[in-house]
Order: sequence, then C-alpha cells, then structure tokens
Amino acid sequence: MELLLAGCSQLGLPLSQTQIDQFRRYYELLAEWNQKINLTAIDDETGVQTKHFLDCLTGLPLIREEMGGGSSTRRLRAIDVGAGAGFPGLPLKIAWPELHMTLLDGTGKKVRFLQEVVTALQLKAVQVVQGRAEELGHQETYREQFDLVTARAVARLDTLVEYLLPFARQGGIVVAYKGPGAAEEFIEARKAIDLLGGEVVRFAPVQVPLLEEERRVLLIKKQRRTPPQYPRGQGLPRKQPLG
Ligand code: SAM
Repeated sequence: MELLLAGCSQLGLPLSQTQIDQFRRYYELLAEWNQKINLTAIDDETGVQTKHFLDCLTGLPLIREEMGGGSSTRRLRAIDVGAGAGFPGLPLKIAWPELHMTLLDGTGKKVRFLQEVVTALQLKAVQVVQGRAEELGHQETYREQFDLVTARAVARLDTLVEYLLPFARQGGIVVAYKGPGAAEEFIEARKAIDLLGGEVVRFAPVQVPLLEEERRVLLIKKQRRTPPQYPRGQGLPRKQPLG
C-alpha cells in the first residue's frame, strides 16, 4: 500500500497501521471477488490505490472542512448512494472511523460483497442496505437523516441530485465526485439543486495524488427541506431530469 501512503501524506491524512491493514485487506477482497463477479474495471494494486482509494480520499479534507473539521461530538451519519464496490463510502469510513456509514446499492451481489468487506475489516457502525435511492429517499428512517451524502459515478448530476438531496438533513452536505466533464452537467443541474433545497458551496477542481486526471468535487449544502414529491418514482429522475 505504498502509493496509498504516499498519496495520503500529500493529502495530510495520516493512516494508522490498522487503517493500512484494512485498506490492504479491502484491496485483496476486491481483487478476489472481481474474478467471480463484475465489481470494477480496475483491480490491479496500483489502480486500486490511485483510482479508487486516493480518488475517494481526495474529497475528505474538503468534506471535513465543510463539516467543521470533523470535531463534532455528536455522531455524524453518512450515506453513500450507489456504493457499488464501496466507493467512496468505504475509504471515507476507514480513514474517518468515527463516521457512521450507510452503504446503499441496488444490486444484490454488490451488497453481499460490501457486507463481506465490512465483516472482514471489523468495521463498526456500518450498515449495508440493498435498495433504490428513489424508494429509500421516502422512508422515514432515511429521509433527511444524514449529515453527509456521497456518490461517485452513479448518474448525471441533474439525476443524481434528485437521488441524493432527500437523504440530507437541513444543514447537512451532499458531495458528488465528478470527472472533468462536470462543468456542463453542473449548469444543467443548477435549477434542480435549488428546487430540492440545496445550495452549492463548492465546485472545486481537485488533484488526486499520483494521478494526472482532473477531478471535481461538488459540495452542496442542504438549506431547505426537500419538497415531499421528490425523489420521483418510475425512473423519472433518470428519464426526465429536473431542470
Ligand atoms: N460508486 C461506485 C464507484 O464509484 O465505483 C459504483 C459506481 S457504479 C458505476 C454505479 C452503482 O450505482 C451500481 O452499483 C448501481 O447498482 C448503483 N445504482 C445506480 N442507480 C441506483 C439507484 N437509483 N439506487 C441505488 N443504487 C443505484
């Protein structure tokens, strides 16, 4: 895990031996399971350290800063929507163990993999849930309950904000990890963000350590409650995005 360590030191994120061991075991399980089920196109050790682990951790200093340095005494609740093989939720949880993390995905085999990783790494305060964002976003135990809502590579931004904003409590933040094409997506999603009760606080280009590619991290603060009709069902967020 040398690249991970070098990258984390650039990001100002010190890792303990336990955390390094957890990342290593996570990588091993990912590579092992990826032989049987299709979890990710990237499963070589270099790629996993840079394009998965460091890519996800690059958002962490910004997230912590926005959440008051992560020094809250109250337990902070996070949900990663469309977590897939666990990104960005699991790297964030490993690097920030105090976070209570819910990993949500619609696909059963991915959820089984996530549960296996959580057990093998002995992670505490992690809940793995199979379900659709459009449905859970209406359930009392999930709606407007989270301090932090994250997603990477799940949908275009105008669709994604309808999945994510309903989960955030007022004052909570929503974080979308995006690639370089995000500027155009951002313009298309602005009205939807406002309609759903959000306000953009940051749309920062970020440099992932040891990678050339440009990434952007969009941070939205939930200012007002999301109107009760959102998220819409029947695939509408994807078929007819708000905007
Ligand atoms: N976030 C991971 C990453 O960055 O590697 C996985 C990305 S993968 C391309 C998209 C994942 O989102 C899939 O695992 C899919 O099952 C999940 N997904 C897409 N739409 C969803 C929805 N509406 N509700 C729950 N999960 C969803």
